Amino acid sequence: MNARNILNADLHCHSVVSDGTLTPEALAERARRNGVELWALTDHDEVGGQHRAAAAARAQGMAYLSGAEISVTFAGETVHIVGLGFDPDNQALQQGLAHTRGGRSERAREMAQGLAQVGIAGAYEGALQFVGNPDLISRTHFARFLVEAGVCQDMHEVFRRFLTEGKPGYVPHRWATLGNAVRWICEAGGVAVIAHPARYKFTANEEYALFAEFKAHGGRAVEVVTGSHTAQEYVKYAETAREFGLAASRGSDFHSPDESHTDLGTLPYLPGALQPVWELLEDRIQ
Ligand code: AMP
Ligand code: MN
Ligand code: MN
Ligand code: MN
Repeated sequence: MNARNILNADLHCHSVVSDGTLTPEALAERARRNGVELWALTDHDEVGGQHRAAAAARAQGMAYLSGAEISVTFAGETVHIVGLGFDPDNQALQQGLAHTRGGRSERAREMAQGLAQVGIAGAYEGALQFVGNPDLISRTHFARFLVEAGVCQDMHEVFRRFLTEGKPGYVPHRWATLGNAVRWICEAGGVAVIAHPARYKFTANEEYALFAEFKAHGGRAVEVVTGSHTAQEYVKYAETAREFGLAASRGSDFHSPDESHTDLGTLPYLPGALQPVWELLEDRIQ
């Protein structure tokens, strides 16, 4: 496949293997129906869905890149690094991801304790009902439980009232280092991408440090068009991509038909002047 002809690439979404609600097969079908030409499933800290996703894409006649979204702690803040086009069977990558996932269960129990202190009982067991992969309990599963229990109207309210810094269900966690995440991806033959940069609460200096260090570690791309960015942020991060000599990625960050406001394959195309990250990965497209 000639990567230069691809416009509708969607290289960021989640399945039941992390905190999405659809199977890899259902996502592949939905992506294809929405006109996606090149797809990647990027579950959090986990590559367990990759062979299923690649097979489902093939069955849909849609091109595929392997993917994962790695949780990183940088300057005291959680940053997400997407890896694309790596070998999902790479041992060092799999071990690094297993290490990054480790501690999620204990963190979840502490989150439930915090919630119990404000009168919300049984949140750990409640969240577990929504978990597809016992290794990957996340804040999203707690949010689904609190909505179902009628404590909050929607997921955003849960995060605002209970699951963000300073709130009763928030437990700080130390994830992978930036250097390790980029290294795991690169050494497995992939390209590292800074996910949704506008989401991080960084000062201008901290953001500059993130991009500079990411690049120094071998990172090569940044998400410019994502479901997490406004149109003004597309413009801002297109400029940042040019400034740092990074390629650009595009992805909906779709999690669920009931929760996500951006569906697979429905975002605007990348601004024309940028190099699409999939052009760096032409030989990794399946
Ligand atoms: P965790 O990796 O357990 O810290 O959970 C992070 C996940 O929570 C993200 O990947 C999103 O899916 C979800 N999330 C974070 N903030 C919000 C928000 N304000 N509203 C809805 N979901 C959110
Ligand atoms: Mn998520
Ligand atoms: Mn993310
Ligand atoms: Mn994501």
